[in-house]
Parts: sequence; structure tokens; C-alpha cells
Amino acid sequence: MNLKYDIISSGSSGNSSVFRLGKKFIFVDMGLPLNQIQPFIEDKIEENGFSHFDIDEIILFITHEHNDHIAGMKPFLSKYSPKIYSSERTVERLIKNGFDEDLFYTMEADVEVTFNDFSVKPFRIKHDAVEPFGYRFKFEEADVSYLTDVGIISDYIYKAVEDTETIILESNYDPELLKNSEYPNFLKTRIASSFGHLSNEDAHNLICKLSMKKLEKAVLVHVSENCNSYEIVQKYAESCFQNFNVVTTVAKQKENYSII
Ligand SMILES: [Zn+2]
Ligand SMILES: [Zn+2]
Repeated sequence: MNLKYDIISSGSSGNSSVFRLGKKFIFVDMGLPLNQIQPFIEDKIEENGFSHFDIDEIILFITHEHNDHIAGMKPFLSKYSPKIYSSERTVERLIKNGFDEDLFYTMEADVEVTFNDFSVKPFRIKHDAVEPFGYRFKFEEADVSYLTDVGIISDYIYKAVEDTETIILESNYDPELLKNSEYPNFLKTRIASSFGHLSNEDAHNLICKLSMKKLEKAVLVHVSENCNSYEIVQKYAESCFQNFNVVTTVAKQKENYSII
């Protein structure tokens, strides 16, 4: 069915990625400004030789309500009117913050939702948001798990992604760089807590475990600009390839990546 997947941008200052399935666009999170999203969509439309009017459908899945995942929603909605899916409490929060109720559909953790040509199963993650979700997408050609903004990998989370073939995984911080960063102590504690973010080592360990199942490809995302370095994350990525045979890419904040 000619599936494509691009990380448009990822990091603490904004996250959004998109699956393209024929003339359908399926976004995960909208933390980027319209002046970054719109040229991306237009490029893809042009590349594939169709027009705006031919777009079948635009769907947006939201992981949680933090700004770096939703900051671009308002202008995006007024331009493209997507159908938006998220957890019940995240949707409630967004409506309370002024979004129109009619745009949203709620999903329940562990209940797979089937669309025409793909399915999605949300799962609960540990993060300091009202009801954050990770997502497991299944397409005819690919099985992709999306797991960012997660403090720890509990047994439940591990089970949700256990036999995935591709994972988009947070590799947020290096403990030493976090400790020496200029962040206030409460923020350092929050990031390192089980409701904060995932360290490079935690991400590496999960890839190691998943490589014994079906994992073939990983993308390390949401790399902190203040408490991490791309060089360190790149070393972990190389280790994932050399030691576990998982092709691993590091997504930088200002670059976009075609994954599939
Ligand atoms: Zn977050
Ligand atoms: Zn985030």
C-alpha cells in the first residue's frame, strides 16, 4: 500500500511525525508551527503528483497535552480539519483549553481501533500528564510502536511493544549531563523520575531486549538539547546496530527523517 513514515521534527522544542498511506496523512502529535508543517505537506503532495483536494483523510493522534506535542494544533486544525484521537482525559483537557469538542474521538488503553487500512492500539505510559498514551500502529507493511515521554519501561509497557518490528523511542537524557545542567533541582528530579523521561541507557536496554524478539529498526527521538548530546546518543545507536543488529537512527530537532 506504499506506506511512508517521516519524523518531521523531534525534541524538547516540538514533536510531530506522520505516516502517509496513499493519499491519507496520519500524524502523531502536533508540536510544530504551521510554517513547518504546511511546507512539509505541500512537498509531499507535489512529490506524489496530487493536489490538496485529493487528500483522502487527515488524522491526528495525540500522545499527551504537553506543549511540545500540541503547540501547533490550533493553526493546524484551522487549516486542515483533521479527526483527532487521544485518551479520554487528554481530550477533556484539550477541550477545557478551548478546542472544539466535535473534532475529537476518544480511545481506551489496550483497545485496538481498526481503520480501513491500518489499526492502532494505545497503551498507557508513565509520564506526568493527565492520561498519556503510547501507540502501536499496524499497517499491512509495517508494525510501528511510538513510545516517547515515558519515565520508565514497566512490565505493562514492555508487553505492549514486545514483538514490534520498528520502534520510535525516546532517548531523552544522559544522567551526567542532566546532573550538571542548569535546570533547577525540581526539574532534574522530575525528568529522572518514573513519570519523567527516558535516559539513553534505558532506551538502549529496551532495544537490546526487543532485539531478541522481532525488532529490526529503531529511531531515537525526543533527545534533550540541554541534558544530552547527539554524539552520545549516536554512540548508543551504533551499539544497537553492532551488538543487537537493530538499524538505529538518531532524530535531531532541526532535521526530518524518512523512516519507511
Ligand atoms: Zn511530555
Ligand atoms: Zn515531550
